[in-house]
This record gives sequence, C-alpha cells and structure tokens, in this order.
Amino acid sequence: MEKLEHIGIAVKNLDESNQLFAKLLGKTHYKIEEVASEGVRTSFFELGGVKIELLEATNENSPIAKFIEKRGEGIHHLAFEVADIKRSIQAYSEKGFLLLNDQPKVGADNKQIAFMHPKSTNGVLVELCQEVKS
Ligand code: ZN
Repeated sequence: MEKLEHIGIAVKNLDESNQLFAKLLGKTHYKIEEVASEGVRTSFFELGGVKIELLEATNENSPIAKFIEKRGEGIHHLAFEVADIKRSIQAYSEKGFLLLNDQPKVGADNKQIAFMHPKSTNGVLVELCQEVKS
C-alpha cells in the first residue's frame, strides 16, 4: 500500500450531504461523478492529501442502497492506493485476503479499483485503487 487515498461514506442524499460536509470541513467538494456500472453518484472532498468520497445510490440494486438498508448511513470503505493494482490483487489473494474482484474495474476519480471482502479484514471493506495515467 502507498497511502490511505480516500474514505468512502454512504449517504442517502448527496446534495444534502455535500452541504453538510462543506460545513464540517470548511471547503466544498471539488467534483461530482456518476459511476453507472456501480449504481452510484459520488462527490469528492480533499483535505490534507486524503479524500472523502460521498456515495449515493442511483438505483435500489446499488451496493450503496443495500448497505444503507442494512446498516444506515456511515463509513462504507477505506481506499488504499497501490502502485500496481493487478499485482496487488494477486499478491493479497496469495496472502489469504478475499478479493471481490479478480480483475480491476473502473471506479470514480480516474481510478482502477478492486475490493476486499470485509470478512477477511476485520469487518472493513477495503478498496485498492490505482490512478489511471491519462
Ligand atoms: Zn472509493
């Protein structure tokens, strides 16, 4: 892992939460992005080199809709930057972590991402991410 890249927070209403987090952090989000394949609309705040990603479901089958139904709003995942996501997926699998994706998929914020199942990481949903060089 290179660093904690962002903290993902599941919210019911992105517009309301953007205002709440702007009030909390003292700065506004710097982008809003929809990831249709994941059924989410996201916004990003940046604070001291770490980002906060707010996630709102765009349909009822979205993983975020299911998360909120089960557990309510709150911290959804921690995302760690890795230098080579394909190698990391393989290396962490070999170390016994349960990867939910055996190939990277496209995430928000110009990233390739893969998730680890929380049952192999003390209940924390871990996202591996690598910035796509464009
Ligand atoms: Zn994320």
